[in-house]
Amino acid sequence: MFRIGFGYDVHRLVEGRSLTLGGIAIPFERGTLGHSDGDVLIHAICDALLGSLALGDIGQHFPDTSPVYKDIDSKILLTRTIQLLNDRGWRVVNIDSTICLEKPKLAGRIEEMRNVLASVMGIMVEQVSIKATTSEKMGYTGTGEGVTAYAVVLVERL
Ligand SMILES: [Zn+2]
Repeated sequence: MFRIGFGYDVHRLVEGRSLTLGGIAIPFERGTLGHSDGDVLIHAICDALLGSLALGDIGQHFPDTSPVYKDIDSKILLTRTIQLLNDRGWRVVNIDSTICLEKPKLAGRIEEMRNVLASVMGIMVEQVSIKATTSEKMGYTGTGEGVTAYAVVLVERL
């Protein structure tokens, strides 16, 4: 049996914060505002994973009102989310995702992100697709005000 899930997330880009995307640090003059480390890609993937089994969303499982999750490494949230699926007898078949960001260019860092996220989820790098695009200078991603991520996941019951 298979199920699919979809996830979407957006974070504001501000000065004085570091930029973490796909589990790695990206040098940039601004970073994502958020209660956790603000890793928009991991959050979209967590929401897709939770959505695949209709388990709610990341905010319900890891509330941003809790001091426990203040500045937390989102890789920990991803590990716990995968555990929720595995505990129920499900595994990831594949993940496809897109980061929408005007600057900086991410092309040279995508393979590193895939390796890190595959490792965190205990799956193979071939099962994790990450793409990066811009919004052609339009809207809040185009002006650099924010960064958006989308993810879909296919899961299979073992
Ligand atoms: Zn988020």
